[in-house]
Amino acid sequence: MTLVARYANHGRAGWGLIEDDQLFPADEDVALVDALADNELLQRVSKAKKAPIPLDEVSLLAPMPDPPQFLGVGLNYRDHAAEAGMEIPTDPVTFGLYKTSIIGDGDTIEMPPFSDENDWEAELGIVIGSGGRDIPEEDALGHVGGYTIINDVTARDIQMSEGQWGRSKSFDTFKPMGPWIVTPDVLGDASDLSISLWVNDDLKQSSHTSELIFSVTQIVSLLSRSTTLLPGTVITTGTPHGVGFSRTPPEFLKDGDTVSIEIEGIGRLSNPVAAAGSET
Ligand code: ZN
Repeated sequence: MTLVARYANHGRAGWGLIEDDQLFPADEDVALVDALADNELLQRVSKAKKAPIPLDEVSLLAPMPDPPQFLGVGLNYRDHAAEAGMEIPTDPVTFGLYKTSIIGDGDTIEMPPFSDENDWEAELGIVIGSGGRDIPEEDALGHVGGYTIINDVTARDIQMSEGQWGRSKSFDTFKPMGPWIVTPDVLGDASDLSISLWVNDDLKQSSHTSELIFSVTQIVSLLSRSTTLLPGTVITTGTPHGVGFSRTPPEFLKDGDTVSIEIEGIGRLSNPVAAAGSET
């Protein structure tokens, strides 16, 4: 199992491949986004000829913290559209996100003092490898550099009070991403993966990517009709049923919670939650 990760070790950050509890660093001169775009992850790491670092000696960082485009698809699970009382959309609901919201595995989600309704959303993230425009569905998988896990944390009260969704989903720390990227050749078919989310030990979301209304290939193709997708672009693909605001009574994240997401074949992304300014 080879995973693509960004890491910090002795004050230096880089990227590399994880295999058998060891991290094999890539050449520092090569950006991860370029290696993904050229489909040269293995070549770049073997060319670097660096000694592996034991995994327990590195901190994992968000795998794509500075994407050239950061896009979201909303209402994209049949089971979530039903719980939200929405019709199945005939075109995808899309929005832009701010990359300053991205944090890595284990980093703290900080809740702002002006929202009481901070909600969770387990999502499959697509990382674009080679970019393109007008990508046909049958070619779309060739443009996917990898998959990751994203928690599309949302301030519901702000989302409901504004016409646009971008700000309410982009507060600093609201986009946990990681713990790494899994390439399509390792993950295989992404169209029927189990996806689950826990708040502390309570299972809140449990579904499969087969519930997606617009599939990975459809999303990449549809977005590329109007926008040149650049290498390293991150697309978060929507969340299944079981979010907090649709529960009876509604539930939201609280200071001291830990929210964890697992996607089959990718791994587990786990983040503590704190009220901004509180000691953690
Ligand atoms: Zn979402």
